[in-house]
Amino acid sequence: MAAELLVTFWGTRGSIATPGRSTEKYGGNTSSVSIKSHGKYFIFDAGTGIRPLGVEIMGEAAIQKDKQKELFLFLSHTHWDHIQGLPFFQPAYDPSFRLNIYGTSNKDAMLENILVGQMDSSYFPVKLSALGSEMEFNDLQLSDTIEIADNKITLQELDHPGGSLSYKFERDGKKIVYATDHELDFHFTQDGELKNDSELGKQYQAYIQDADLLIADGQYTSEEYEVKKGWGHTAVPTLLNLAQKSRVKQVAVYHHDPMHTDSFIDQLSASYLKKFQDTEPRMDIFWAREGLTLAI
Ligand SMILES: [Zn+2]
Ligand SMILES: [Zn+2]
Repeated sequence: MAAELLVTFWGTRGSIATPGRSTEKYGGNTSSVSIKSHGKYFIFDAGTGIRPLGVEIMGEAAIQKDKQKELFLFLSHTHWDHIQGLPFFQPAYDPSFRLNIYGTSNKDAMLENILVGQMDSSYFPVKLSALGSEMEFNDLQLSDTIEIADNKITLQELDHPGGSLSYKFERDGKKIVYATDHELDFHFTQDGELKNDSELGKQYQAYIQDADLLIADGQYTSEEYEVKKGWGHTAVPTLLNLAQKSRVKQVAVYHHDPMHTDSFIDQLSASYLKKFQDTEPRMDIFWAREGLTLAI
């Protein structure tokens, strides 16, 4: 039987696109992940990885002419590495598509204004308003629940300079959490113990509890974290130990540092796979790889 929930990593890199031979295994495109649920696309972030996803969707649309061409895009926040691919997303130019964009306002600027700003003529030749698709912008509140057909999405605030939002996708009892750009180390020790009775930490732990797949920021090694405190990202052991305590079934370490080459990530992942190989309950761990599709 064909799997109904397919998760694909289109961009796994954090901060800046990092193409080249030393990153071809884990990928150089910035953040973008899709969940294809019973034929509908739910897209998380619009980093440069959303460009090849757009090409894929256009190819499918050409075959399935009469299907509803509606897409749902959820933005964690509007730092460059999470929105820069949007002006290159082909369905946004096609009048037969409807693009529903979700995110939060940042201080005074509404989500739409930030995306308009990125396409100002100083930066890009085509204005957002000139794109052919029908677009709808949804400024979310933390308490919102989004229900689209039988798919449910809930939100959790993350700790990141300027803010970031996590999305939990649920369908037929399966839970997938997308949680990037988050400094978990402010709320948990590297052993995954709650710090200072942190309220955000408690909320986050309950939110990821028992997830089938957690796609989460694990940008730094412990050593790197020591010199990058306050930059808004998490050290790998903090992520993995907390996930283990929260009985997460599978973790995709995500938002790779631009300085991390394929061989560096191979070594890092091998050392953690070894550390976690005999832990109970069993948790699958992998470093997200661009182009990988998983059935959940
Ligand atoms: Zn980022
Ligand atoms: Zn960010």
